[in-house]
Amino acid sequence: MAKSTSVLLIYTGGTIGMIQDLKSGQLRPFDFAHLTDQIPELKKFDTRLSAISFDHPIDSSDMTPAIWAKMAQLIEKNYSKYDGFVILHGSDTMAFTASALSFMLENLDKPVILTGSQLPIGIIRTDGKENLITAIEIAAARHKNKPIVREVCIYFEYRLYRGNRTHKFNAEHFQAFQSPNYPVLAEAGVHLRYNIPALLPPPSAKKLKVHLKMDAQIAILKLFPGITKNLVQAILNTKDLRGVILETYGAGNCSTQPWFLETLKKASSKGIIILNISQCNAGSVEQGKYETSAGLNKIGVMSGEDMTTEAAVAKLMFVLANTRKRKEIEKNLKSSLRGEMTV
Ligand code: ASP
Repeated sequence: MAKSTSVLLIYTGGTIGMIQDLKSGQLRPFDFAHLTDQIPELKKFDTRLSAISFDHPIDSSDMTPAIWAKMAQLIEKNYSKYDGFVILHGSDTMAFTASALSFMLENLDKPVILTGSQLPIGIIRTDGKENLITAIEIAAARHKNKPIVREVCIYFEYRLYRGNRTHKFNAEHFQAFQSPNYPVLAEAGVHLRYNIPALLPPPSAKKLKVHLKMDAQIAILKLFPGITKNLVQAILNTKDLRGVILETYGAGNCSTQPWFLETLKKASSKGIIILNISQCNAGSVEQGKYETSAGLNKIGVMSGEDMTTEAAVAKLMFVLANTRKRKEIEKNLKSSLRGEMTV
């Protein structure tokens, strides 16, 4: 019987696609052409499944913007052929990839669901089977012949999250991700319950626009008590640097020492974009609320509001790659482009 929906699985690497070699006991990627040998349940889906595997699956710690572009191209090439996409990916940098793809895939009108697992699929207690099966169900889900989800998400341990709101916070528990500043988009229990008002609405323009360029000339400058002038200067004087994520304390606060503010001011006046992101997991930067952040307003540091560091990295790379005009960069950073921040 003809299947009613279709989903493309893209295996990039990570624990989920591993099985344990019986002889050596080591983990190795399994052949994705034989996916249903590992998860026979997949045959029961009323969804046509196809799978593409990277020739050389990677641990996601080796992720690069070039590999994000490869994923975006695979989606572009197959966009009209499938109702949805599931990307199997290591959990370590999944929040970065989900954030990057959200910016690269403009006017996305279909679900792109990233998932992975903490335990390999070939291990009896794996969390990978449920993650994969439900991710496929979400990627295929339609209501009145239209997709329910039209954004890049992470599905992990019974929860669907907006990808660019996520953060990997636990290396041990199956619940590895959280979305501290945005509600969960769906919860899988006996029923799969979608939080419809929290989902992105259909895009205003119809055609998918894929952006492949990202500018990696950025840095993260994480503050700590005792940070030295040498270190701050070394980072801000990095050759070709175009943007810095300043990881501040609490609601966006930092040292008021003159050398510190002077160094930032110099960088900003050279054209380096400085984006203020809080080291706190939840809550937002409120630049100017305390005296310790009021100084930042005067020297052109921009508030990253309630964005995660992962989303800020991807957004900065995306915005810088697409224009050199400071006004336009600032306008894009101040707006929520893909639901990545609350404005
Ligand atoms: N190190 C692995 C990776 O991120 C962990 C995982 O697959 O979850 O690729």
